[in-house]
Amino acid sequence: MPETNGAGKFLAAVRNALGAEAVNVTPETRHRYGENTMPAGDRIVSGVVYPGSTAEVETVIRLANEYRVPLWPISTGYNQGGGTRSPVKDGWVTVDCGRRMNAIIDIDDVLGWAEVEPGVTYQMLHDELVRRGSKLMLDTTSGPPGGGVLGNTLEKGAGYTPYFDHFAMSCGMEVVLGNGDVIRTGDGGLPGAKLWHVSKYSYGPYLDGLFVQSNFGIVTRLGFWLMPRPPAMRTFHFSFPDDDDLAEIVELVRPLKMSNLVPTLFRLTNDIYLYGAEETNPEYAATGGKAGISDAARRALQKKHGVGAWVASAALYGAGDDGLKPVVERIRQHFARSRKARYISHEEALGMVPLKIAIDAFAGIPTTHELGMLKWRPGGGFSWFVPGVPMRGDLARHYHALGRAIYAKHGLDYCVMNIAGARFARGLHMLFFNRENPEETARADRCYRELALEFSKAGYSVGRAPIDYHDLHMGELDPVIRKTASSIKSVLDPNGIIAPGKYGIA
Ligand code: ADP
Repeated sequence: MPETNGAGKFLAAVRNALGAEAVNVTPETRHRYGENTMPAGDRIVSGVVYPGSTAEVETVIRLANEYRVPLWPISTGYNQGGGTRSPVKDGWVTVDCGRRMNAIIDIDDVLGWAEVEPGVTYQMLHDELVRRGSKLMLDTTSGPPGGGVLGNTLEKGAGYTPYFDHFAMSCGMEVVLGNGDVIRTGDGGLPGAKLWHVSKYSYGPYLDGLFVQSNFGIVTRLGFWLMPRPPAMRTFHFSFPDDDDLAEIVELVRPLKMSNLVPTLFRLTNDIYLYGAEETNPEYAATGGKAGISDAARRALQKKHGVGAWVASAALYGAGDDGLKPVVERIRQHFARSRKARYISHEEALGMVPLKIAIDAFAGIPTTHELGMLKWRPGGGFSWFVPGVPMRGDLARHYHALGRAIYAKHGLDYCVMNIAGARFARGLHMLFFNRENPEETARADRCYRELALEFSKAGYSVGRAPIDYHDLHMGELDPVIRKTASSIKSVLDPNGIIAPGKYGIA
C-alpha cells in the first residue's frame, strides 16, 4: 500500500519527535482506521499517530504544516453511521487523540462539571461517577458506551436527560489550531481562570462554536456539565397504532415541551427503530433485499413486541415517586385526548426490551442494545440521515410521508426516531443495507442522496452528516456559508492540514 501524499517523511518526523510508540503504519492499522459502514467504502489512511498531550498535538500539527500532510483527528472513533473512525478521504493521517489522552482531568462535585480529554468515553465517566459515589449523573447518548464525551459534543450530539444538548452543556475548550496556536476558549483565556468551566459566555466573541462540525483545530480538553442525580425518575410511554398518528403525537407533545412540564426530549420512535434492535428483517431472504418490509410483517412484529407504529417516551425527575405520579397522571390525561394512545407505564416498559433502552437513556446509563439494529439487514451497511422538522403536526405528516416514500422507492426499511423538543424534532433516519451486495449498496446511496435533495428542496436541512455526504449538504446551502467558513479556515489553518473538505470546508 503506497502512501498517497508524501506522508512517509511526516510520519518519520513524528516518530523522531514523539517516539516509536506514537506512530503506527502497519497495513492492518491503516486499513482498520479507514473502516466504516458507508456506501462509498472503506478508506485507507497513510498512518496513525497517537499524541499523549496537548504539547504533542502541537508537535504533530507543526510537522503536518511542515510536510503539508492532511490530518484526521478522532477521539474515540465511534461515529457509527457517520463514518465510524474513517477519514473523508484516502491517504490522510489519523490523529487518534483518545488512545493516550483519556484522562478525566477533574470533576467538580459542587458545581457539577467534569474536564475531560478526548478519549474519555461515556462508560468511563459514568463508571467514575459511580465509583466515587457521586451525586452527579452524566447525560449519555443511546449509542455505543465507547463513544466519547468530547467527540460527541463536537458533532453536536444529544442525549435524553434534561442535559440532553451536549454542546449547550459544554463549557470551555482547549484547542490546538491548525496554525499551531493553542487557545483556551471563554474564561480559559485568563491566567488562573476560575470560571473556565462554569461561565459559557465570557468576554469577546463566542469562539467555542467554531470548533463543532468544523476543521479549524484539534480539541484537547473540554468542560462538560453534569446533572445532580435525582432521587426518583419515572418514564412514561404512549403507543399509537398508525403511521399517520405522528401528526397527532407532535401536537400532543409540543405544549408539554413548550411549558417545560416535561424536562426531557421526547423519543418518538417508529416500530422498526423499536424492535429492530432485537429482530432481523423477516422478509429479507424472500425479497432479496429489493423491497422494504411489508405492512403485514410490520404488524406481526408490532404485535409480538407490544408496540404500535409509533411510541412516544419521555421522563420526569424528582424527589420521590409520590411526587411524580400525579404529574404522570396529568400527562396521561393530556394524551387521552387522542383515543388512539395506549399508555405504557414505567413498570410495564421495564419488561419491554425496546423501551428498556429508552429508560436507560433517560437515566443516563450507557447501553449497547441499540447496536443490535445493525443486524436488521445482513452485510453491516449503515448510514443515517438527520434532518429536522418544526413541531407542527401538519409539517411532521408531510415530512414523514416524504421520507417513507423515498425509502420505499429504493426498497429500504423506513426506520426513524424523532428527538422532539418544543419547537423542532431531529429525525434520525437509519439506513440499513447489505454492504456486501453492490446493487443494494448503490441503492442505499441513491436513497440518501434523494432524501438529502428532496428534504432540502422542501426546506428541511440536516444537523449532521456522514462522511460520504459532507460536500453534498454544504452544496445545498447558500454559497456564502461555505465562503465564510473557508475564510475562517484560511486564517486558523492556512495550510489546510486539518481534514480539508470536512463538512464541505476547505
Ligand atoms: P466519538 O469520540 O464520539 O466516537 P469520533 O472520534 O468518532 O467521536 O469523532 C467524531 C467527529 O469529531 C469526527 O468528525 C472527528 O473528526 C471529530 N473529532 C473527534 N475528536 C476531535 C478532536 N479532538 N478535535 C477535533 N475534531 C475531533
